Amino acid sequence: MTTASSAAQPPSLWVVAACFNEASGIRAFITAIEALGLAQQLLLIDDGSRDNTAAVIRAEIELRRDRPEALPISLIELTRNFGKEAAMLAGLDQARGRCDAVVLIDADLQHPPELIPEMARHWQEGAEMVTAIRSAADQESTLKILSASGFYSLFNRLTDSVQLVDGAGDFRLLSQPVVRALTDMREGTRFSKALFPWTGFRSVDISYDRPQRNSGATTWNARRLFSYALDGIFSFSVLPLRIWIGVGMVISLISLVYALVLVISTLLHGIDVPGYASLIVAVLFLGGVQLIGIGILGEYIGRIFEESKRRPPYLVRRISASASRDRQGEA
Ligand code: UDP
Ligand code: MG
Repeated sequence: MTTASSAAQPPSLWVVAACFNEASGIRAFITAIEALGLAQQLLLIDDGSRDNTAAVIRAEIELRRDRPEALPISLIELTRNFGKEAAMLAGLDQARGRCDAVVLIDADLQHPPELIPEMARHWQEGAEMVTAIRSAADQESTLKILSASGFYSLFNRLTDSVQLVDGAGDFRLLSQPVVRALTDMREGTRFSKALFPWTGFRSVDISYDRPQRNSGATTWNARRLFSYALDGIFSFSVLPLRIWIGVGMVISLISLVYALVLVISTLLHGIDVPGYASLIVAVLFLGGVQLIGIGILGEYIGRIFEESKRRPPYLVRRISASASRDRQGEA
């Protein structure tokens, strides 16, 4: 499949957004993207919304049918909520080979669409990827900011292949080679934040202030964020497995020294009944350490199990589109 740039037309840019329960704000989002007049296609993925997001989008598509001047919208409806990572992948799969660049953006207007022209400008000047980095002065709670920066420094210390930048998320422009690279990676537990830099394509960074959600509510509670953070670490680092070699060696060394101390003190002072306290502390301590080690092994084995099933990352119920400025037709 070839990209469209060989034709005389200007390079084509798609805007791709995953939507989950965005019915109340999706019209404003569509209007904002349309007002830019930059995109050749707005591709929305309904990630199994429980409200009528899909119906609202389908109505917008109907409004645009046979109106060549309107922004073409297409909608991929997933069969259920597969999560934002899977929904973004569905969008990238659809965009693969069909445009010259993709802007990934949140549908809740927390990623200001006004930034897209600047991103497109960098791309036209040759950038392979443009990353919008959320500035630190954000309306997040102090706890969230602290835990996020703690996570980034831990992640960066644990991994060699990528360095995460605090505030760099999914709001990015990806040129077609990056889209291909990302869609080539079919791992089950996706951690896009790190997959983008992992591809090695160079990024031009721009910064922005993140506004509040225009409507609806975030689905990222503390538990979900924590498990997302663990996904990130366990899918990019094996250091948590290796740590146990070090821990085991240190504990063995301590026991050896302690054994020597016992031998010497027995020789000097005769046989002494060892204390119950030191015994129970040693047993409990070692038991705890072993359980942590087994738990971490379990995390990785669980992930191997998940990957080995090779289930598709998402399933599509249907695809609808208004018109298509896509030069190769619909898939
Ligand atoms: N989203 C999604 N599937 C989900 C959760 C979220 O497609 O399971 C979409 C959501 O509609 C929004 C984007 O991902 O466009 C970011 O979600 P959210 O605003 O909840 O996250 P936050 O902005 O708090 O990081
Ligand atoms: Mg949001």
